[in-house]
Amino acid sequence: MMTQRDGQYDRVSPDPIRTTSASDGKTHLVVIQPSSFCNIDCHYCYVRERLNKTVISKALVEEILQKVFRSERLADGFRLVWHNGEPLTLGIEFYRSIQKIIEKSNIRKKPFVHCIQTNATLIDDKWIDLFNQLSICPSVSIDGPQHVHDLNRVTRSGRGTFHVTMNGIKLLRRRGIKLGGLCVVSSLSMPFGRDIANFFINEGFSSLGLVIEGPWGANQKSSLPDIDGISTSGIVTQFIEDFYEAWYPHRKNLDVREFTNVFTAMKLIKHTNTACVQQEDATSCTVVSFDREGNISTFSPQMVMGVPGDTKRFVVANINEIHSLDELPSIPANLKLESEINAGIELCRNECGYFAFCGGGSPGTKFYEHGTFVASETQECRYSKKLMTEVLLENVRRHQEVVLIASTQT
Ligand code: SF4
Repeated sequence: MMTQRDGQYDRVSPDPIRTTSASDGKTHLVVIQPSSFCNIDCHYCYVRERLNKTVISKALVEEILQKVFRSERLADGFRLVWHNGEPLTLGIEFYRSIQKIIEKSNIRKKPFVHCIQTNATLIDDKWIDLFNQLSICPSVSIDGPQHVHDLNRVTRSGRGTFHVTMNGIKLLRRRGIKLGGLCVVSSLSMPFGRDIANFFINEGFSSLGLVIEGPWGANQKSSLPDIDGISTSGIVTQFIEDFYEAWYPHRKNLDVREFTNVFTAMKLIKHTNTACVQQEDATSCTVVSFDREGNISTFSPQMVMGVPGDTKRFVVANINEIHSLDELPSIPANLKLESEINAGIELCRNECGYFAFCGGGSPGTKFYEHGTFVASETQECRYSKKLMTEVLLENVRRHQEVVLIASTQT
C-alpha cells in the first residue's frame, strides 16, 4: 500500500483535473459509503439518511473489494476512500476487519492510497494508532476558524463542532500525521477569506480542498448564488482574492487543490498550446462509488446519492450483478450516462471561453443544478472555475509566476 498522507478526499473526491488519469481508461478513485449515518448535522450536507445507522455488511465489503482488486482497469496508486456519512462512527474494529479483507482480496499487491474523510470529532489516540498501523490517510472536514466553522458545521442541537474537531486535529498533528483538509465555502464564509486562509496556514495543514457550496444531493438549495437578492459574483471574487493574498506568501507550505488545478491547466496550455484538461469525474469509470447497499455509480461521487425521490437515479449496477469493475464501462446504463455527459462537455467546448481551464465541468453538479447533464454553465463552475481562473490569471500577471506545488506538478 502506498503511504502518502498528502491528499484530501472530499465531497468531490476526484481531482477535478487529472490530465493523465482521466484519459488513461483506468479507475483512479473508489469511494465506499460504510454508513450514511453522521454524528453531526452540517447545514449544507448532501448525504441523505444521515440519521440512519444501518452499516454496510462485511460480506458486502468483501464482495466489493474482491471485484475491485480483481479489475484490470484499476490504476496503480488508486485511492480507496471511506466517505459519505461519518466513517469513524463504525468504530475501530470495523476497519481492522476491512484490513483483513483487503489483504485477502489484493492478491496482486496493487499499490493504493487508503483514505478516510472525517469530521475528526471522534478521533482519539486509538484511532491514530489504527491510522498508523494500517497506513490510512485521514482528511479532515473543517471550514476554518471557529467563527466560520460553527456557522454551518453543527450538532443536531445546533451547537458548533469546532472545539471537538480541533481536538482531533491537535491529536493528529501531535502524532505527526500530515494534515489534509476540506473546507466548504458558503455564503456565510464570504467575508472571511483571509481568516480562512490564515487558519489553515497557522494550523499546519499541507493540503486543502476549497469547495464552494452547491445544490448537491440532499442539499437542494445552496446558500449561494444570491445573498439578500444580490448577485454574489463580486462577493465571491473578493473572497477568492482575500484568500489568495493571505495564502500566496505561504504557497510552498499549503497546496490548495483548486488553485493547483488552475495552475496545472495554465502550465499545460503554455506548453502544449491546447485545451487538454479533462475532468476525472466526467470520464466514464475513472471514479467508481458504492453506497452501503452495493449500488454503483460511475461519474461524480455525489451521484451515488441519486436525486430526491429517486435515490437510484444514477445507479448503473449493483455489485452483486457484476463479476468485476471491468464490466462497468459497457453496461447500457453507464453508456447512456456517458453519452449525455459527453453532450454536455461538447456544449461547454462550443460555448465557454474557460473550457481550456476546465474541460467541461462536473456532471453531477450540472445535473443537480439543471436537471440534465446536457448543460454548460453552473453556479459551481461560475465561482470555482471562471472567477477563480480570473483571479489567478490576474495574480500570475502580477507575480509573473505559475505556482505549482505538491503532488499535482506535471
Ligand atoms: S461552462 Fe463551466 S463547466 Fe463548462 S467549460 Fe465553462 S467553466 Fe467549465
